[in-house]
Amino acid sequence: MFDQILEKLKPKEQLESIYQIDFKALKHQGIKGLVLDIDDTLLPRQMLEISHVLLSFIEKLKDIGFSIFLMSNNMNQPRVAYIGKTLNLPFSTFSMKPLPFSFNSACKKMGLSPKEVAVVGDQLFMDILGGNLLGMHTILVSPMSPETLFLRQWMRNAEKWVLEKIESNKLGF
Ligand SMILES: [Mg+2]
Repeated sequence: MFDQILEKLKPKEQLESIYQIDFKALKHQGIKGLVLDIDDTLLPRQMLEISHVLLSFIEKLKDIGFSIFLMSNNMNQPRVAYIGKTLNLPFSTFSMKPLPFSFNSACKKMGLSPKEVAVVGDQLFMDILGGNLLGMHTILVSPMSPETLFLRQWMRNAEKWVLEKIESNKLGF
């Protein structure tokens, strides 16, 4: 039972940042779409300024031919909308990750099945669990900024604990 839960929380890949993802390999595996988390995955939670590095990174992904959908649990609609519009990408606010319906709806909007889509995010209990529940490819990246809010600090510690358990269970990545 515990092993089954760990299995659902296990990312398919674990990397330091989005810039380390091997997108050509993903393409080769049949991945055609990306569901990207915003806060602490694409840019630090407190930051609104979009760097040229991020902008050209997204452009490169579009050039490779990926469909991209920004999915955020953030309730700050103007923030998410500004980022979506600046990057010229579809987005959803207050997505209620890890519940499957928003992942499903993002896949539908991209015209892809969940198996053809990779989820990239910094939170095990939101991004990775949600993607795994639908059988999507899941990539965990390290959060870009330290957490200041008590509840999310607690969650990060719990996530670290789960990752250690996954490793000690020799489930590996
Ligand atoms: Mg995040």
